[in-house]
Amino acid sequence: MKPAKSSPVQIARRGLMLVISSPSGAGKSTIARTLLETDKHIGLSVSVTTRQRRPSEVEGVHYHFKSVREFERLRDSDSLLEWAEVHGNFYGTPREPVEQAMAEGRDMLFDIDWQGAQQLQEKMSADVVSIFVLPPTMTELQSRLHRRAEDSEEVIQTRLANSRAEIGHWREYDYVIVNDDLNTAFDAVQSIVKAERLRRDRRHGMFDFVRELLEETPSL
Ligand code: ADP
Ligand code: 5GP
Repeated sequence: MKPAKSSPVQIARRGLMLVISSPSGAGKSTIARTLLETDKHIGLSVSVTTRQRRPSEVEGVHYHFKSVREFERLRDSDSLLEWAEVHGNFYGTPREPVEQAMAEGRDMLFDIDWQGAQQLQEKMSADVVSIFVLPPTMTELQSRLHRRAEDSEEVIQTRLANSRAEIGHWREYDYVIVNDDLNTAFDAVQSIVKAERLRRDRRHGMFDFVRELLEETPSL
C-alpha cells in the first residue's frame, strides 16, 4: 500500500561556514588560498582591518583596509558579524555578505582568529565548522614568518610572542591539523569539507528524495 502523501517542510540548505585559525605563520592563509583556487563552491569572507596593507595584498581581495575611525563606524553600526583586536590591529567580518551567502546556501571560508571563531560559534553554531592549524615546531613557525618576508622584524616578534597564547585555544575547534607537509595538510582540509557537506542536515533535497524512494513500488 502506498503511504499517504505528506508534504514535509522544505528546509533549504544553508551554507557552510568554514573557519580556519592558527598562530601567525602556521600556513592558514596558504591553505585557504589553495582551497579557494580548487573549490569553486566556496567563497572567502573578506575582512575589514586597520592593519597596514602588505606589499602583496590587494584592497578588496585580501582585506578591506580601513582607518580606525572607519572601522569603529562599521563596528558601532552593527555592520560586523564579529570583530577583534589582534596583534594591535582591529579586524572584523562584514555581516551582510555572510548572511546573504548563508541564506543562498553558499559556503564561506573565514580566515579569522580564535576570538572571531568564538563569536561565530556563539551566533551561528549550526553553520560553523572550525579548523585549527598548528605548525610542526615553534622553530619552523619562526622561520616561516621570516620566509614570508612581508612583516617588519618588530611585527614578527609581536606575532611570535602571541603565538603560544593562540595555540592554547586549539581545543575549541572541531578539527586540528598539523601543517608540516602542505599537501598533506591541504588533503585533510579537503576531506573535512567533503565530509561536512555530506552531513544529513546539509543535504538539500533529501526530504523529497526519501519520500519518492518510499513511494516507489518495484514492479517485480
Ligand atoms: P598564516 O596565514 O597562518 O599567517 P601563511 O599562509 O602566510 O601563514 O604562511 C606563512 C609562510 O609559510 C608563507 O611563506 C608560506 O608560503 C609558508 N608555508 C605555509 N605552509 C607551509 C608548509 N607546509 N611548509 C613550508 N612552508 C609553508
Ligand atoms: P594577518 O594580519 O596576518 O592577515 O592576520 C592576523 C590575524 O587576524 C590572523 O589570525 C587572522 O586570522 C586574523 N583575522 C583576519 N581577519 C579577521 C577577522 O575578520 N576577524 C577576526 N576575529 N580575526 C581576523
